[in-house]
This record gives sequence, structure tokens and C-alpha cells, in this order.
Amino acid sequence: MTLLEGSVGVEDLVLLEPLDQESLLKNLQLRFEKKEIYTYIGNVLVSVNPYQQLPIYGPEFIAKYQDYTFYELKPHIYALANVAYQSLKYRDQDQCILITGESGAGKTEASKLVMSYVAAVCGKGEQVNSVKEQLLQSNPVLEAFGNAKTIRNNNSSRFGKYMDIEFDFKGSPLGGVITNYLLEKSRVVKQLKGERNFHIFYQLLAGADAQLLKALKLQQDTGGYVYLNQEVSTVDGMDDASNFKAVQSAMTVIGFSEEEIRWVLEVTAMVLKLGNVKLSDQFQANGTSASGVCDGRGVQEIGEMVGLNSEELERALCSRTMETAKEKVVTALNVIQAQYARDALAKNIYSRLFNWIVNRINESIKVGTGERKKVMGVLDIYGFEILEDNSFEQFVINYCNEKLQQVFIEITLKEEQEEYTREGIPWKKVDYFDNGIICNLIEHNQRGILAMLDEECLRPGEVSDSTFLAKLNQLFSKHSHYESKVTQNAQRQYDHTMGLSCFRICHYAGKVTYNVNSFIDKNNDLLFRDLSQAMWKVQHPLLRSLFPEGDPKQASLKRPTTAGAQFKSSVAILMKNLYSKNPNYIRCIKPNEQQQRGQFSSELVATQARYLGLLENVRVRRAGYAFRQGYGPFLQRYRLLSRSTWPRWNGGDREGVEKVFEALSTSSEEVAFGKTKVFIRSPKTLFYLEEQRRLRI
Ligand code: ADP
Ligand code: MG
Repeated sequence: MTLLEGSVGVEDLVLLEPLDQESLLKNLQLRFEKKEIYTYIGNVLVSVNPYQQLPIYGPEFIAKYQDYTFYELKPHIYALANVAYQSLKYRDQDQCILITGESGAGKTEASKLVMSYVAAVCGKGEQVNSVKEQLLQSNPVLEAFGNAKTIRNNNSSRFGKYMDIEFDFKGSPLGGVITNYLLEKSRVVKQLKGERNFHIFYQLLAGADAQLLKALKLQQDTGGYVYLNQEVSTVDGMDDASNFKAVQSAMTVIGFSEEEIRWVLEVTAMVLKLGNVKLSDQFQANGTSASGVCDGRGVQEIGEMVGLNSEELERALCSRTMETAKEKVVTALNVIQAQYARDALAKNIYSRLFNWIVNRINESIKVGTGERKKVMGVLDIYGFEILEDNSFEQFVINYCNEKLQQVFIEITLKEEQEEYTREGIPWKKVDYFDNGIICNLIEHNQRGILAMLDEECLRPGEVSDSTFLAKLNQLFSKHSHYESKVTQNAQRQYDHTMGLSCFRICHYAGKVTYNVNSFIDKNNDLLFRDLSQAMWKVQHPLLRSLFPEGDPKQASLKRPTTAGAQFKSSVAILMKNLYSKNPNYIRCIKPNEQQQRGQFSSELVATQARYLGLLENVRVRRAGYAFRQGYGPFLQRYRLLSRSTWPRWNGGDREGVEKVFEALSTSSEEVAFGKTKVFIRSPKTLFYLEEQRRLRI
């Protein structure tokens, strides 16, 4: 098939001719311009964000895709969801749906479309419907607390999410489990140009009635809050007030009690008030600098709301207690340190509140352990990130993507190859880049970058970001995927784009330069003990429960795990989970930076196609066979296409299938006969079979 001007291009990139980056882009563009946003690579779905509501969703389309097999209708996310759900239900295979792409590419929308499709087809009844409702209503709650307007996406998820939906043997939903990754908590105290804080703050102020505002001692105007008045406060087309009502009702549907909802809002309000606590220099008699709260009203209000003596709060914000074996030494913090402590507290409270909300939802939707379950996992997680300034956050996000690429390589390629070998089908080995070496560079238990970072955080003595970098430079000077100014100089390469405080990793998707500034701090993620102890003393049951380490009895010398180690272990759990399931891929692409309909920037899409490894993906698919099925079911479906096998056939299944292809004079290139399955090279042939079949029934 060739790309004809005016056509809609090929529906499966496996059919692309010639196969190169340029024609791949051209094909996506052609389809995008015809509002065909979905394209396959075999069973992988590529989705280009249309930035407009297309009339291709809803009950009518769900019904259509429910009744057809994969290649019979236009490419669609419902087709992918349908295949996944059907395999779960009839073949008893646990599934996972992996959605990747950069911010604004449409991952979260895709995950919601998958969930709504599955919800629509998976059983009926009052009990089942109430489970579905709870699962679906978790979205608005998590989005309120975990999403924000950024310059890339007005409703950007600032956390990663993996959700297992669990079904009974009939395929009816029982409940689920949500896991969240790495909320971007720095946003609570500071927003970049043109961005907002998390939606819930604006929703609360705009949507709460006078009585609630009074009870929380809040004023409606966002301009009065330091954490909200740094940048923009409204988002085009977003109604904060009505979203607030939706969040409240979603929480009720999920099963939050009225009291719990009030607690959540109180803690949210407290974060805002904390941002308004003004601190100033106070000079002590001995000349050292100290700090204090300027206007007592703020801490007073917080104290009243959460049940804490306001002097105690002020003390926790403005001083630090060092404990040694023999004595306690209290040092006063200067104003910069106290502001840092205040912001650290606000970020900690908020991110712990978010975790609490996720756990609370899980409590409502969890399924008893006794039942045998089938599981569909949906992963909506940040794609590969290369920003102008890349820090610890980008480092762990890109590590996660490196691991996801590894799953992709291992499952797709190895399984393919193994199946061909098992089936005795000749197989030309496809060369592909195995990114194990990069994963190892980052995660190796003793010698990985994360391990080095932890070691540096634990080491007594003068520890800094630059001692950490020096260590990396020493250890990885010869590593093929590591570079820095030092290693470059040693090799007489003079690259002016690389700063002295940076290191660079050659990821599978490209080179990324990370600045080590604040790596140590972000990895340590320590909250001064004075603050956690103060929080543990509050009367407020929810807030208090967020700071278990503040209990003096608990405050042993045991170090909390570092942020890096925590992330690494949650990624490991995720990988184990994904490996145990059959993967379905959705690759999301953002067509332009302006969030505009109808605009397709080839350059932007080209970069994403590279990060997502689309061309590599097509090559692998082309080298192999797009479709395969056991002889029995295949013959059952297509035996009416040959006079030898229809209406009667007494021979074996394999011979029967051979007869069918003989009758159609299919080229021998197109079909291979394995030990138990027939393999078809291109979707075109399968499509042809389907067409012929339909003509005859
Ligand atoms: P991501 O999660 O990848 O950052 P989102 O899923 O939040 O991106 O999508 C960003 C925005 O793009 C959405 O708020 C919506 O306006 C638009 N969008 C994404 N997918 C679709 C779609 N299939 N149809 C219409 N609009 C979409
Ligand atoms: Mg998202």
C-alpha cells in the first residue's frame, strides 16, 4: 500500500511503504488532518491528541467495537480496550494497559476512555454498578488533588498512577487498588510562570459556600494567599466552583464520611494558611540571628483549627533541636531557614494528605483476599522528560521510563522470538538496543547512581551535591552511557553545553543532562524533627495520623528511606506486576505545544516518535507476524472460505487451515504454519479473510 494524497494513510504502520521516519510522520499527519487520531502498530495503539471532542465515543461506538474483532473496524482505543477485556474474560489472562507519552499527549484521557469502555461492557446489576461508580469517581478526586494547570497542559497530572481493576470469573468488576507515584509537591509552595497550584485550592475557594468558608476561616479571593497569588489563578474553560461540587459528591460516592471530607478540607485550608505565615528576623541579645512569626493571627487560626498551641507551632517553625546521646541543643533558625522549614512543612502535609486520600479510596474499593480474581492494570505515568533544566525529578521519571522500555523490549521481542522458536517457525533475528546497561547504571544495588546517592546522603562529614558528582565521575569515567565535564575533558572533548555541576546519561530515548544541585536534599527528603513532632501533637485526627514519626517513642535513630530508594522499590514492584500480565500499549502523541486543534508540528511529533521508539517498534513487527491464532479456532472461523473444508471437513485442524489458504491463493510469504498456530504476516491478509467471510455469510 502506498500513501495516496487525499487518502487517510495506512491504519497500521506495519503496512508503511517505504518504512522510514519521514513516511511514518507523514502518515500520522495525514490521518490527523482527517481526524483519524488512532493508528496501529500491530497491537500497539498510537493516539494523537486531537484537542477537540470527536464524535467517536459513547454508547453507540462502544456497542460497535464490542461486536467486532480487532482489525474489522477503524483503529480505536475501544478496540484495544475490547481485546484486553475479552482476553481477560475468556482466556483468563491478566492484562495491563501501558499508556505513555509526554505531558499533554492525552494519557489521562486515554486511561479514562479505557475505564469507561470496560465499565460499559463488564456486567450489570446494582452491586456491580456501585463498584463501577466508585472506580470511576476516583478520577475526579485524584485529579482535584493531584492535577494542576501547567504551560503544557491545563489539566496536567502531577503524579504517576497505576490502577489494578479486579474482576470475578464472569468478568464483573469487584474493586481495585490504586498506586500513586511521586507527587510533584514543590508546586504547593511555588509555581512556574503561567502555572497554577493544585486544582483543589481554587476549587475550595470558588466552590465552598459562605458557611464552609467561615468554618475554615478562609476568604474567597485567591489573591490573599501567597501559595496561590504568584501566577495565574483561573484556567480557560475550567469551572472551579462546579468542579468542587463534583469532587465533594465523588468523595461521598466513594464512601468518605462527612467527617472525613471535612478533615480533608481542613488540612487543605491549613496548607494555604501556612503559606501566609510571615516570618521575620529577630536579633537575639547575643547577636546571633533568629526568626519569629510577624503577625500571630495566622498561626493562631491554624492552631485553633487543628488543635495545637500556636506558640508550639511557632517554636517548631523557628528553631531546630539537635539531640545527641547526652543532651538536647536548641538552635534558632534565621529567617531564610524558618521560611524553608515552613514551606517544607506545607509540602509534606500536602503530599501526605494526597497519599492518605489514595489509601482511603483503596480502602473503599479493595477486594477481599479470598476471591480468585482476574486483573486489568492501567498505567498512566509521565513519559520521558527532557527539560531545559533537569533535576532529581526528571532523573527518576526517566529511570522509570527506561524500565518501561525494558519491559517493552523484553516482553515484545523476547516473547515474540521465543514463540517463533517454540512453534518451529524460522525467524530472522532483529537487532535491537538492549537498554539493560542504562538501567544498571542507575539502579545497580551497590554501584548504581541511586546507590551512590544514598551512600552520599548517609556518609558522615561534609556531604554536598558536588562530592556526589565527584564520586560519579570517578566511578563511571569509562561507562559508555555516562558523561560529564570531567570525563569529557579527560577525552579532550570540549562541549560548552555541559555545566560543571552536571552529568549526562545517554538514555535509550536520547541524551539528558542533569544538574546535581539539590539531589542530596531531594533524596534525603527530611523534615526537621521539630516539625513532625509538632504535627504529631495536634488534636486533628487526620493531620496527626500523617506524621507517625513525630511520636517521640518512635523517634528512634532509624533513618527514613530516601526518596530515591522509595521510588526504586515502587518501580520494582510495578515491574513485577507488569511482567505477570499481558501488556497492551497506548503511545500518546502531542501534535503541538499550543494545545490547539488541527495543528500538527512535524518536528515536535518526530521527537516524540523517537522517544517512544515507534519506528523500532514497526521494524520488529514487520520482521515478525502481526497475527496468530490456534488452528482450531482459526479453522472454525474461516472454514467457509474453502470448498474442501465447507460444509464438511473430517481432517485435522492444521490441514484444514492449509486448505483455506490454498483456496484463497495466499502468497506463501504471508502465512507460516507453526506447531499449534497459524501465523499471518500482515493485517492486510487478515482483513482480506474477514472481508471474504462477510461476503459469504
Ligand atoms: P496527559 O495525561 O498525557 O498529560 P491529558 O490526558 O490530560 O494529557 O490530555 C490533555 C488535554 O488534551 C485534555 O485535557 C483534553 O482537553 C485533550 N485531549 C486529550 N485526549 C483527548 C481526546 N481523545 N479527545 C479530545 N480531547 C483530548
Ligand atoms: Mg495526565
